[in-house]
Amino acid sequence: MVYPLILMLSRAESMTRKNLRSNAEKFEFQAEVSRLMDILINSLYSNKDIFLRELISNASDALDKIRFLSLTDKEVLGEGDDAKLEIQIKLDKEKKILSIRDRGVGMTKEDLIKNLGTIAKSGTSAFVEKMQTGGDLNLIGQFGVGFYSVYLVADYVEVISKHNDDKQYVWESKADGAFAISEDTYNEPLGRGTEIRLHLREEAGEYLEESKLKELVKKYSEFINFPIYLWATKE
Ligand code: ADP
Ligand code: MG
Repeated sequence: MVYPLILMLSRAESMTRKNLRSNAEKFEFQAEVSRLMDILINSLYSNKDIFLRELISNASDALDKIRFLSLTDKEVLGEGDDAKLEIQIKLDKEKKILSIRDRGVGMTKEDLIKNLGTIAKSGTSAFVEKMQTGGDLNLIGQFGVGFYSVYLVADYVEVISKHNDDKQYVWESKADGAFAISEDTYNEPLGRGTEIRLHLREEAGEYLEESKLKELVKKYSEFINFPIYLWATKE
């Protein structure tokens, strides 16, 4: 199902952060994950667009999960906006932030720690090996480590998440071997779901162009069963 792409304008609402939150709990990435991130950060791979496919795919998975849970318990969806199963992509040209937000199942603090850094999947080392012998980076999603492709285009990433069973937390990392987790008292409450904020690298400015994003969303939304909205900040 292909949904129409709607381009809307809104004002910037987030502040740029330059440093990880000082009150956060720090964690080290599992060694293989750290190696994978090094490879991605230093990659000369030209088709960096794929990071958006991975983020859309994760958002869609999270929406599938909450929809599935709602079949037996309608309450899990909440009310109003929370119940809208959708994906929003926002461009903040001034702050050079690309964010993608879903109203999916979200992640608890423990989920963030496990899923984004401390537990390596079996595919992690297999993918690292493939990369060292000239494998195709495009296959990253098939190895179960697609999330980390954000570091092809960003040097600092924040993952803000709210799961029904926990408070709102933020995961953040500059891909320097460590990540930090803290309760999120800084951003607007998400209600439920996840927002991934990519602080784009200097050379990744093309991902702040509406035309580029529109083209990519069209391409990657073909098999996505949820509406995707694209927003850009007023200039
Ligand atoms: P995969 O999607 O193959 O499991 P990824 O590296 O893309 O691997 O994502 C790792 C895990 O992080 C996912 O399995 C999921 O548990 C969690 N995750 C990533 N993005 C989201 C999201 N938007 N909402 C909820 N959980 C997410
Ligand atoms: Mg994925």
